[in-house]
Amino acid sequence: MTERPQHPSPDPGLAERLARVQGEIADAAATAGRSVDELTLIVVSKFQPLSLIRDLMALGVRDFGENRHQEAQVKAAELSSDPPRWHFVGQLQSKKARAVREYAHSIHSLDRQSLVDALSVGATTEIDCFVQLNLTEDPSRGGVDEAGLEALVEQVLASDALRLRGIMAVAPLDEEPRRAFARLRSASERVRALEPHADRISAGMSHDFADAILEGATHLRIGSAITGNRPSRG
Ligand SMILES: *Cc1c(COP(=O)(O)O)cnc(C)c1O
Repeated sequence: MTERPQHPSPDPGLAERLARVQGEIADAAATAGRSVDELTLIVVSKFQPLSLIRDLMALGVRDFGENRHQEAQVKAAELSSDPPRWHFVGQLQSKKARAVREYAHSIHSLDRQSLVDALSVGATTEIDCFVQLNLTEDPSRGGVDEAGLEALVEQVLASDALRLRGIMAVAPLDEEPRRAFARLRSASERVRALEPHADRISAGMSHDFADAILEGATHLRIGSAITGNRPSRG
């Protein structure tokens, strides 16, 4: 009878998938006439075990994305002696905002004034953030709608606790990603008209990062193409 290993050995495919994605990122950057130095790869590690994050850190990954506070908080506590940069990329409830500030390097999903307020109350340091734009017509998808973009940006800029870095979005399922990312790029110009330093664009996932790079993305949020399929929610 074989015993179940306590520490599963690293997935031999992981380094390969990481290298393949990095190669595809470099190819897309070359096609776009951009330098890879402008691009930050965030590996989205939601639902994945700590062992996988450790394996990726051993392969040189320093930026991880999580979308649920409880899970992210546990992972951040476990890795607090040598912390990677945690990027919060999911919908965030205002009541959890302060706790997320404790471990997050940046918040990519700032989408409403109540969240700006919750993140600002009592804060003594600045945190990097991106305003999330909803590229769909469905309000449940998260993100401010295009009409509300400037108002939200002004609210973020008025907060001493938030350093606006740029804009973030997820491509809709029913639109060519390239077209959706072109709309995001125009929205980024509107953000920059208000704050020239907020020039980052957080866009591009496993299936559309090449298109995102062609449309100016600077922060790629890539999960399954690197991690393999996510364990089911359980
Ligand atoms: C899960 C997730 C990703 C990564 O998705 P993949 O398709 O696994 O690459 C990126 N951004 C957000 C906001 C996510 O929730």
